[in-house]
Amino acid sequence: MDFNLPGEDDPRRIAVRRWFEANPSPSYKQLAEQGYTAANWPRPWGLDAEPELQFIIDTEIERTGMTHPTKVNGIATNQCGQALLHYGSDAQRERFLPPGLACEEIWCMLFSEPSGGSDLSALKTVARREGDHYVVRGHKIWTSLANHADIGVLVARTDPTAPKHKGLSQFLIDMKSPGVTVRPIQDMTGEDNEYNEVFLDDVRVPADRLVGKEGEGWRIATSQLQTERMMMTQPAAVFGAGPTARELMSGLIETGRIKDPLVRDEAARLYIEGEMFRLLSLRSLSQRMQGRPSGVEGNLGKMMAAPHGQRICDLAKRSQGAAGMIRDPDVLPLPNRSFGRFQDWDYAYWFSPAATLGVGTQEILKNTVAERILGLPREPDPTAQVPFNQINAAPARSAA
Ligand SMILES: Cc1cc2nc3c(=O)[nH]c(=O)nc-3n(C[C@H](O)[C@H](O)[C@H](O)COP(=O)(O)OP(=O)(O)OC[C@H]3O[C@@H](n4cnc5c(N)ncnc54)[C@H](O)[C@@H]3O)c2cc1C
Repeated sequence: MDFNLPGEDDPRRIAVRRWFEANPSPSYKQLAEQGYTAANWPRPWGLDAEPELQFIIDTEIERTGMTHPTKVNGIATNQCGQALLHYGSDAQRERFLPPGLACEEIWCMLFSEPSGGSDLSALKTVARREGDHYVVRGHKIWTSLANHADIGVLVARTDPTAPKHKGLSQFLIDMKSPGVTVRPIQDMTGEDNEYNEVFLDDVRVPADRLVGKEGEGWRIATSQLQTERMMMTQPAAVFGAGPTARELMSGLIETGRIKDPLVRDEAARLYIEGEMFRLLSLRSLSQRMQGRPSGVEGNLGKMMAAPHGQRICDLAKRSQGAAGMIRDPDVLPLPNRSFGRFQDWDYAYWFSPAATLGVGTQEILKNTVAERILGLPREPDPTAQVPFNQINAAPARSAA
């Protein structure tokens, strides 16, 4: 592993910092136009940046205190926007990427359904071709940001006669289209600003909103999920975001709670784990710097980082003793930098159980690690080769 990350005197850092000095409070549009939002993407969307330059830009964005665009509009600026580079048409890239990267149009991922999320290939939403449109009918659930979204990345079944993985296609739909109804779900944080149900009642989607070819939906979706998991191998409280064990430790020291030997013992363990994740994410960066593709290890990283984040939030609350039972945004002091909505330890605590479910549950990730890293036999799926419309009505379990 190469730890020689670009230092303060690196000419690339000096150039980037100069831009931020000239634009001390840039808008997301300015960041996108400068190529900083997705610097590793090819021009004109990014800067064709090597991972080192991407790293410099990301750390300089962080220095401004602004929330990184990937945390504001992650679906567009990361996994799904990136998929358009490979699978989208020129017209789709022109239409969707500029407002997506500028965070002017928020995107959401319409993958999971009530019958299950783990086995995404068993989804039931149908897109039927009618002339120059598809007519979409179905029901999605757990859709993050759907209540704010302008664009939905939809996976739907276009060929019910094909085996379940093969009859799926992906579309970019306008969330304001007639027939789209979004119903927020209140979760145990007490808020209803994360998950939504989305009802699609004969929504007409122009045929040119199909991403890639008909039947490519599964392949595109799995590559998007892989990218998303890779981003989550980070030493942070929830989904690679929020405070880390370092912030936990400094808060415990500042409040004197570290003096409790049991707290100190747990905090030390978490700190060590956090440093391990920091090194793992640096290793992944180092691999990318050397041009090696990131592989299925993103599944392993996400599988280990999610419970680590849960333990951080748990100790932050528990170290308060009985007071931890009361909702209190000042559970522990946090340094003056933006952790977005996870700035509030209390919110992070109540949200954190979601981290071992979203973007693949622990069991699904374990299956992937077993099959694709350890080379163990694949989990049998008797329905895999059967035409979807002939699979018994009792659906197989599912995966987003
Ligand atoms: C914070 C968060 C954000 C989300 N955002 C989105 C979003 O934006 N868009 C979207 O489409 N979805 C989203 N989801 C949904 C998420 O992808 C699903 O919750 C997830 O894939 C699990 O699906 P499920 O909830 O239907 O559980 P199920 O698939 O029904 O699983 C139930 C249980 O069975 C286990 N299980 C299932 N299959 C197997 C198997 N083969 N082997 C062993 N155990 C198995 C699971 O591990 C789980 O414990 C989000 C979820 C969360 C928590």
